[in-house]
Amino acid sequence: MIDINTEIPTLKSVDFPRTKIIATIGPSINSFEKVLELLEAGANGIRVNFSHGTTEERLTQISWVRKAAKSLGRSIALIQDLQGPKIRLGDLSTMIPVEAGQVIRFRYGADYEREGALPVQYDFSKNVKRGERLYLCDGKIQTIITSVKDGIVHARVENSGILYAKKGINLPDSDFQGNILTKKDLKDIVFGIENDFDYVAQSFVQSASDIEKLRLRLLNLGSDAKIIAKIETRAALNDLEEIIATADVTMVARGDLAVETEPEIVPILQRKIISLGHKYDRPTIVATQMLASMSENPEPTRAEISDIATAVFFGADAVMLSDETASGKYPNESVRVMQKVINHVQASSGLQEIDTIQSINAHNKQGAISTAIIALANDLKATAIVAETRSGTTALKIASRRSDHPIIAITSSQRVAQQLAIVYSIKSFIKKDTHMQAQKITDWLRVHNVFKTGDIIISASGAYPGVVGATDTIKVRVIK
Ligand code: PEP
Repeated sequence: MIDINTEIPTLKSVDFPRTKIIATIGPSINSFEKVLELLEAGANGIRVNFSHGTTEERLTQISWVRKAAKSLGRSIALIQDLQGPKIRLGDLSTMIPVEAGQVIRFRYGADYEREGALPVQYDFSKNVKRGERLYLCDGKIQTIITSVKDGIVHARVENSGILYAKKGINLPDSDFQGNILTKKDLKDIVFGIENDFDYVAQSFVQSASDIEKLRLRLLNLGSDAKIIAKIETRAALNDLEEIIATADVTMVARGDLAVETEPEIVPILQRKIISLGHKYDRPTIVATQMLASMSENPEPTRAEISDIATAVFFGADAVMLSDETASGKYPNESVRVMQKVINHVQASSGLQEIDTIQSINAHNKQGAISTAIIALANDLKATAIVAETRSGTTALKIASRRSDHPIIAITSSQRVAQQLAIVYSIKSFIKKDTHMQAQKITDWLRVHNVFKTGDIIISASGAYPGVVGATDTIKVRVIK
């Protein structure tokens, strides 16, 4: 009956999570069994961070994820996170204390012992100018650039601290002039396409044209991967709506965003970005430090629980774990805690989104059909919504209206099913494009007692199965 997916869902609220979980893979998840456990704990997407690891490690991780997803009969989104112009210090044989008022120097490839300039992994001397800020070690040490000469950047230290090898550098005021894809990114993009990633996350996006350039590159290379715009620079805030509208998914990358702006405005930006995602029917991921303490401890803090709940209340499509699962001591526990918080929020109160902005698609055919489906589902207290969706757009638009109903998406594309895995409330099934897919899936779920007598199912389908944008029919079915 079902072409690829085999897992049979249960529609009880706790078993049908609406907000999804993305886990980052790393040294803590170092076997197929551990990947399996992570997915069983509740992860719907796996992020591979291309700032770390080797090609061999990535190949192994990718094969584990695909194999584990297959063995569970689930569609899992595989996300390639490009490093972007993330600048890091190079190798240092010792830690280096710096004092407020001291002038320090940076040069691409420098030998600190010999010349006293700090080595950096990327030559940013052409992108910066006097007066701009240069932050080290996640903003813990702040400096102001005083001059740039012969490829050497001089900066005055504002507060004392200690520098360690490979620590990150942030340049909140600098303009990369539309060139944020590094040579490494270009190579990694090809690797990502060859290895079947569903999403490419673009780091340090500054404007919508960065997304357009990546999109063109992906299309030219024949890729159907979708783009996640990571919002983590000050420049991106000047083009925020355009970036969200141009990308497929937006990530609130709170780690670097807090360094490049101020930590205090991140919660406000998070709320704004989620709302704009709803306006443009674009999913949003909330990322970083959601369970930071669980990298070391088996229990979360009360504040972390509250942080996850807030992201769920505001209507994020997915919440993401980084170090917690990549290098933390309690990766599965972290996913389980996240899942538990999501379940409690959705079971106890439903979603009470605070900022509701009407979708820009409210008055076009697909948008209006999606709104009508939700209205019907609410009025009739439907058990679920079943949507035939070739490209995923119909399912996305329904999801974007944030109802409490499970959305069963049926698509003939495995890629689309994997991409929908991190979208609010959607569970996908893969089935060839034929007439009455929605009805057949509904029948199949009835046979497996997922739907029972009296349940009301609202379905969306099109007269031309497989044709993108052809959804034109809404049906109300009472299960016999
Ligand atoms: C972030 O900065 O919050 C983020 C998600 O990016 P990365 O983990 O790549 O630093």
